[in-house]
Amino acid sequence: MILAAYNKWAPWFLQMESFLKANVTDKGAILLGSQVACDAFEETRPLRVVTHAHADHLTGLHRSLKMCDAVVMTPATRDLISVLKGPDYLLNGNVKAINYGSPLIFNHERLILFRVDHILGAAQVLVEDAEGTRILYTGDFRFTDTPVVQSDVLVIEATYGNPWRTRNFEDEAKQALVSMVEKGLEQGPVYVFGYHGKLQEVMQILHKARIKVPFIMPEKIRRISEVHQNHGVILHRPLYSAKREMQSTLHGGGKYVAFYHMSWRKKVGLNKFRICVSGWEFNSPCRQLSNNEYIVALSDHSDFNGLLEYVQRSNPKLVITDNYRAGYGTSLAEQIEKRLGIQAKALPIRTKKYNS
Ligand SMILES: [Zn+2]
Repeated sequence: MILAAYNKWAPWFLQMESFLKANVTDKGAILLGSQVACDAFEETRPLRVVTHAHADHLTGLHRSLKMCDAVVMTPATRDLISVLKGPDYLLNGNVKAINYGSPLIFNHERLILFRVDHILGAAQVLVEDAEGTRILYTGDFRFTDTPVVQSDVLVIEATYGNPWRTRNFEDEAKQALVSMVEKGLEQGPVYVFGYHGKLQEVMQILHKARIKVPFIMPEKIRRISEVHQNHGVILHRPLYSAKREMQSTLHGGGKYVAFYHMSWRKKVGLNKFRICVSGWEFNSPCRQLSNNEYIVALSDHSDFNGLLEYVQRSNPKLVITDNYRAGYGTSLAEQIEKRLGIQAKALPIRTKKYNS
């Protein structure tokens, strides 16, 4: 029995040195090299990196600000967090805002952030240790426009890490979104529901499609959109705050597009023409949910094929899949081993499959 168990795990003993250079903790911290923890607090690590401003990557940030030597992020992520958490929140710690490609040397390790296609400011994180090992964490990313970084040890997100989670209609989804908004505007206002970052992508798409009606939104979403504009993203202008300038338009039944966070879906615009944007749609670019509500399949994550292609091009010796955040860490690790022949492990180890 002991021998059988050893045989099963032998490759991992052989890979132990690489394996110790990256890990994902039970609390969701992605550990790279000996100094860095990404996207959750880890008390043994002096450097905390925030890959982007989505809530599941801000875990324990308050403690990191208090206890870490430095908290690293891009300037855009800093500005988004300042809106989401309040202007004083980041003053509690030593925030180092670094641009893509600008290295930070810390105790013989070199840290560099690279751009990813996800939300404004999102980054992948490369740590090069004293032995020259390249340890990379992708963070969340959409493969389409993400530069692939070469790695020896790769930690990759696993949101759509299941072979059934493929999607071949990115452009069609954008066209469907524009068509649905135009259709809705023939009858009156259109309400769009989505997450931070995704809503601003919708604004960009509608702006490019020359939708001319007013865009209105709660003050927080307007300020997040302004951060996008300040960092060079071209959005529709002007952007109106739903609470102030546009009260008469809201109640008067005029034509406009209203943007709300997904958490407001059951609270506003119940009888209006409604569009939800979500990545959890795989069969068609657009689907009708009820007589006045549609869902458009707009995702800011790689589908299964994109995840595998990233791994193949990054060319690591060992892959760790993020099995902490929502997704298919175990399945992705299995498929990487089976299809690419690269050793892969889902961490942290879970007793039950975690697919949400
Ligand atoms: Zn994200």
